[in-house]
Amino acid sequence: MIIVFITPRPNPPHKGEGIHIKGKHMEEHFRQIIVAVGEDPKREGLLKTPYRAARAFEFMTQGYKKDIKEVVNGAIFTSDSDEMVIVKDIELYSMCEHHLLPFLGRVHVGYVPNGKIIGLSKIARIVDMYARRLQVQENLTKEIAKTLMEVTGALGVGVVIEAKHLCMMMRGVEKQNSSMKTSCLLGVFRKDDACRKEFLSLIQ
Ligand SMILES: [Zn+2]
Repeated sequence: MIIVFITPRPNPPHKGEGIHIKGKHMEEHFRQIIVAVGEDPKREGLLKTPYRAARAFEFMTQGYKKDIKEVVNGAIFTSDSDEMVIVKDIELYSMCEHHLLPFLGRVHVGYVPNGKIIGLSKIARIVDMYARRLQVQENLTKEIAKTLMEVTGALGVGVVIEAKHLCMMMRGVEKQNSSMKTSCLLGVFRKDDACRKEFLSLIQ
């Protein structure tokens, strides 16, 4: 049996609040935003918008309600392989915590097993668990890497994220083609040059 303990993020927002009450509450706030931008919330096209926006927002932040035990769901298996495992091009959709606008891109994950391997789909689920929260790309990268390290007990983990941020593209500097690349390398990925090079060349 594998016992997993993940340190919770400080002050998880609204833990324990009922989804119904929270949803209703959120709807009212979206209605106020519609009024604040000078629109008429009673206009036909906007009538159900607070409801839809609240549902969408709940979906995009559902990562707060997940915990790692439930996400991994026992899919850790014994293996004597110590070859690097790489999952490339995991789709990423997250929300910038500074502007509440999406950032989206790709996540590449690699790890070197140390007696245990994890079901591949679970890596994508771990990405989603952290991406569906209010995030900054740097922290997201670290959280995915640390969690994978903890649940697999791997010799090393590498995570690289490349993403475009709508808060940069639609507002502010309006740089449509810039993307941001972040990485977090742990264990042998950090200490061993050959290992790091292999990982970085395989995710190209
Ligand atoms: Zn932003």
